[in-house]
Amino acid sequence: MSEAKTKPRRKRAAPSSKPAKPAKRAPSVDNPGKVLKRSRYSRSETYDIFRRFHADNPEPEGELDYTNAYTLLVAVLLSAQATDVGVNRATKNLFRMADTPQKMLALGEDRVREEIRTIGLFKTKARNVILMSEQLIRDHGGEVPEDREALEKLPGVGRKTANVVLNIFFGHPTIAVDTHLFRLANRIGIAPGKTPLDVEKALEKAVPREFGQHAHHWLILHGRYICKARKPECKRCVIYDLCRSPEREKLDAIPDIALRTAQRISDGEALSAS
Ligand code: SF4
Repeated sequence: MSEAKTKPRRKRAAPSSKPAKPAKRAPSVDNPGKVLKRSRYSRSETYDIFRRFHADNPEPEGELDYTNAYTLLVAVLLSAQATDVGVNRATKNLFRMADTPQKMLALGEDRVREEIRTIGLFKTKARNVILMSEQLIRDHGGEVPEDREALEKLPGVGRKTANVVLNIFFGHPTIAVDTHLFRLANRIGIAPGKTPLDVEKALEKAVPREFGQHAHHWLILHGRYICKARKPECKRCVIYDLCRSPEREKLDAIPDIALRTAQRISDGEALSAS
């Protein structure tokens, strides 16, 4: 009796498409991801990066509106988890009425709360503005102290706020690490760190002395407008050819802005040598 022929079973084809990899998340303060042990750049490469930023924007400025050290301090305190545009909208009227701690106390917490109600955490922030103003009058004669420790003792004022005020108003070469700067420092690997303080310390070591005053502005602005969280705009990047980020977009050519900026630097060098 012949054996019944059985059809060989077909192997089930493996699914053709692999499950999509989850999109790589940009480093953030809450989720820094894998952090490099050291910078991806040598000292001279770091120097070149800051030279590009300087040539592109020699006098960068913060985007918060203020009229004196006190209004700057208040504006920075209000800017936590809020946009600079939103803070400026809220402080326009507030600072017209109160640009000193004394005037702010006279205005009172309820009125301050009313003025800033369009920005996040406005109740806590209004309370802190009043407490901070009281403390400035009590401990510093109504003046903003030019001292990190004293600034950090004020209600609502943390290290980042103190660094912004010391840098912008008093001209210290401090680095205020916000969400944009933290992401950029880790993404391009110029000052990797697990926490904002780690990044600040790494940048203090890495930034060439002559660029210390403006370094934090350049990095914040670059992170905010070019090397954005979801998708960096590499086509508009002045440091494209210097950048070693694995997230750098592969372009057919170096963007014009980077070439023009590099050219401006070498023209300046040729001029000063002649
Ligand atoms: S080249 Fe792209 S990834 Fe690198 S710093 Fe510029 S925008 Fe960011």
